[in-house]
Amino acid sequence: MNNTLNGKVALVTGASSGIGRATALALSRAGARVAVGARRGDRLKSLAREAPGEMLVLDLDVTDRGSVEEAVAATVDGFGSLDILVNNAGLMLSGPILGADTTEWTRMVGTNLLGSMYAVHAALPHLLDSRGAVVQISSTSGRTSSAASAVYSATKFGVNAFAEALRQEVTEQGVRVVVLEPGFVSTELADHITVPAIRDMARTMAASMRTLRPEDIASAVLYAVTQPDHVAVNEILIRPTDQT
Ligand code: NDP
Repeated sequence: MNNTLNGKVALVTGASSGIGRATALALSRAGARVAVGARRGDRLKSLAREAPGEMLVLDLDVTDRGSVEEAVAATVDGFGSLDILVNNAGLMLSGPILGADTTEWTRMVGTNLLGSMYAVHAALPHLLDSRGAVVQISSTSGRTSSAASAVYSATKFGVNAFAEALRQEVTEQGVRVVVLEPGFVSTELADHITVPAIRDMARTMAASMRTLRPEDIASAVLYAVTQPDHVAVNEILIRPTDQT
């Protein structure tokens, strides 16, 4: 464990698997006390057992504004402050627009976009106090849209738009805003796709390349949040070398 984040407090949403889990562990190894939120509490408990530092397990559904507010309040009550919010919880239910189950659109917008906005809204007063940082886990889909990715991309474009406005509103007060845009990372994300042909395409794509690992993204988060106070890493785009 290195101590670069000693004394810092982080909240990671969607920490029960994939990128969020790896990021929570990386922050913990760097000395932060980390609050971890998601719906699958059993996974979070086992993460907390694995972490080298203190971890606070939170029952969190980011689509529920009250749940987000409670998670932020519990973090500050438990650890005394909040320095780093990693807005990571997300859902990718890819598929064509024609004939889509629009409840999937509602879930993606509610989770990826509104959920991350709620988290910023609840955390911002504390981040202003601590001159902290927000890390928005966006996507390459936040930069380019493609067929079968309309709504997922729309949410990630929205995350980027929100982040830039946020940056302009708070940077002079010392709060840093980081947008991180991963390409293909091996996680459970694509397993939830309900259109079989699109899910198969995602699997074929994953098998065709050396995908990123969640730890690759966690390293980038750590890089961004351990820079000196005067350095704001505003945007990081990371693709697998094999991804065109
Ligand atoms: P995973 O499916 O492994 O992780 C998603 C996480 O989000 C889980 O911990 C899940 O927890 C949580 N989550 C989903 N819905 C909610 C909710 N309503 N409330 C709270 N937590 C929720 O996928 P990844 O690790 O890949 O995804 C993490 C982020 O990275 C997402 O924002 C995704 O869009 C982004 N990303 C991923 C890429 C990839 O290729 N994998 C590429 C680019 C970006 P639980 O179900 O327990 O609530």
